Amino acid sequence: MNDKVEILGVKVDSLTMKEAVQFTDDLIAAKKPSLVATANAEMLMRATHDEELKDILNSAALVVPDGAGTVWAARHLGHEMPERVAGYDLAQELMKLAPQKSWRIFMFGSAPGVAEKAKAKAEELYPGIEIVGTRDGFFSPEDEPEIVEKIKTAKPDILFAALGVPKQEKWLAKYMDELNVPVNIGVGGTLDVMAGVMKRAPRWMQRAKLEWLFRAMLQPKRAGRLVALPKFVIKVHKSKKKD
Ligand code: UDP
Repeated sequence: MNDKVEILGVKVDSLTMKEAVQFTDDLIAAKKPSLVATANAEMLMRATHDEELKDILNSAALVVPDGAGTVWAARHLGHEMPERVAGYDLAQELMKLAPQKSWRIFMFGSAPGVAEKAKAKAEELYPGIEIVGTRDGFFSPEDEPEIVEKIKTAKPDILFAALGVPKQEKWLAKYMDELNVPVNIGVGGTLDVMAGVMKRAPRWMQRAKLEWLFRAMLQPKRAGRLVALPKFVIKVHKSKKKD
């Protein structure tokens, strides 16, 4: 068991990227369907008013600290949090290991054509990788049985679901047992970044913990979501005082 830190009612694992990869490896070996979530400040804020999401996160096998905000919150509350484990980076680490471990991967989500481009990119970056299927993330409820069937038939070891928060977590929680895929990860914009549809912040901005600012600049429509950050800081601080 990893150490868990409770942030605004959600238990987040306190671990390094290396430990997260090792733990995921163990989950694949165990063959039992499990959920891996990548918790940034926005997701944690959402869980404060979305009980379903909160319950899903608290029963997930692994909740990694995605984002400077999550790491800050854990430390502010007086807990150990070794480093940020970004969902995008975790996905890359797992794909890097996949050929050697013979892990099969399914890419589900994003706009039509994006998962195929992300697959091509993965094949270029990680020779020998087996991306055993793709499916875009825009569908109606009637399409879901067919999507489930497609994923089941492909028999992946890892399912990357890029449907955005909280849709991806809710979808995975609903279908995980039926899919019988060992590791199910909600990866947000990862396929977009891999496909080159969306850029990741330059390294210096990542290091300066300004990735959120870069995203807001690139997608002004998201800028409204930024108010979640100061609200998160205030909420975490208040929750500390209550203890
Ligand atoms: N997306 C999708 N189906 C939907 C809504 C969104 O596949 O019904 C995709 C969208 O194209 C994008 C990804 O979900 O590739 C993540 O979106 P966003 O960046 O908003 O994710 P978040 O920051 O919420 O994780």
